[in-house]
Amino acid sequence: MRRDQEKVATEFMDQTETWPIEKLRRLRRRRLRALVRYAYANLPFYRRRYDEAGIAPESVKGPVDFARLPMVTKADIRRAREDSGSFLTGMESFPNGDLATIGMTSGTTGTDFLYCNRKWRQFQGGRLLRAYWWAGLRPGMRMMLTVPAWHCWAAEESYLAERFGVVGVVPWGTFLPRFAGNFVDAIRDLRPEFLSMFLPMLYAVQAECRRRGLALHEVFAGVRCVLVVGAPLTPASRQKLEADLGVDVYTGAGATEGLIAMECSEHRGYHLFVDTCYLEVVDPPTGALLPPGERGRLVLTAFNPHGTVYIRFDTGDLGRVVKAPCACGRTWPLIEVYDRLDNMFAAEGREFVPYDVRLCVDEIPELTGVPFSVIRSVPRVRADRASPTSPLWLAIQRPLSGNLRSLEDSLAAEIGRKLRVKAAIQWVEELPARWKGAPVIDEMEWKEIARG
Ligand SMILES: [Zn+2]
Repeated sequence: MRRDQEKVATEFMDQTETWPIEKLRRLRRRRLRALVRYAYANLPFYRRRYDEAGIAPESVKGPVDFARLPMVTKADIRRAREDSGSFLTGMESFPNGDLATIGMTSGTTGTDFLYCNRKWRQFQGGRLLRAYWWAGLRPGMRMMLTVPAWHCWAAEESYLAERFGVVGVVPWGTFLPRFAGNFVDAIRDLRPEFLSMFLPMLYAVQAECRRRGLALHEVFAGVRCVLVVGAPLTPASRQKLEADLGVDVYTGAGATEGLIAMECSEHRGYHLFVDTCYLEVVDPPTGALLPPGERGRLVLTAFNPHGTVYIRFDTGDLGRVVKAPCACGRTWPLIEVYDRLDNMFAAEGREFVPYDVRLCVDEIPELTGVPFSVIRSVPRVRADRASPTSPLWLAIQRPLSGNLRSLEDSLAAEIGRKLRVKAAIQWVEELPARWKGAPVIDEMEWKEIARG
């Protein structure tokens, strides 16, 4: 069998993953047109906004027209909810009488609520199945389900677990580092073969094993694959995680509003699930569409016409479309998601995100994967007021081994080489334990933490 045919048989889930790009574009145009017409006819939230902008749904024929439609921010949705005095905003699509649960997002930038009805769950869970397949989940496996029940992702994941026919392993506790002990116990006692979890929680599980003096290879002996989400993973941290745990590690980039993107075995970015969503990269201040390769704000449109419908939703994330095609043979576009725009900070008058720093930290073998926080002297909204000479201020957890002085010199040199700014490095025993880590801490808060 030829290599690509072999891949289709074993790694690809179906032929759609290698469809010609022109075919995918035609499909996208059709879906965008249909979605805008549907929203205008059925969802008052969108009809009002398109009328206000003077855009008739029939005039939207392709991505360029589509980009003229107003963006939707989290603040717009909160306002609509306040105006209606309920969770209903006019973005929800479900037949009268259809039951829906209200799912939550994790609230990193203010919790959001979604109507997740039966069809929403089927659509999302059905599409998510492909991501888990790519990461190595197969029917009959034991899978550890770790998403808290109130999170929208739990509705999708439980659906795919049912569809796949996997045996679920559920630890007691929730996604906070203080429950890591229960997660370790569940992995040792119930031996799941597949794990999905937020990356900071996986690090907390690793730290708990070290605290107890357990060998990671033994704890993870039965695990074949780990799927992590919630924070970007640099190539060096992924390789280190794989070596430490002795398992394959895959990362996914998702948003409960409907973004699904997933790494393939090449690990060169995330393939956007074009059957589920459409992503635009726009210039943060002007909102103009950016060409592939350029970093900008990610604007999401979900094709799921059930439950809460998101069209041109500002995800608040910074990312880009990767220009080169992927060696795996899939034609679905590759994207990079770096961080939340709110986590941007300035050093020597230029803007960065923690991922830029992570790439430097991970170059030093003793520091690969070691948690750090950037201490920001002025909040993101006032980044232009940052002093043009202020260095990059970094609080980093003291590693288990190594000479601190020489590590500090190597790290400062790496930051100077890659980012062309000076670094002020501060070693700390521990960083605040948070839901998804604490990549950026404002200086005022940092001082309060230091005061204890
Ligand atoms: Zn690929």
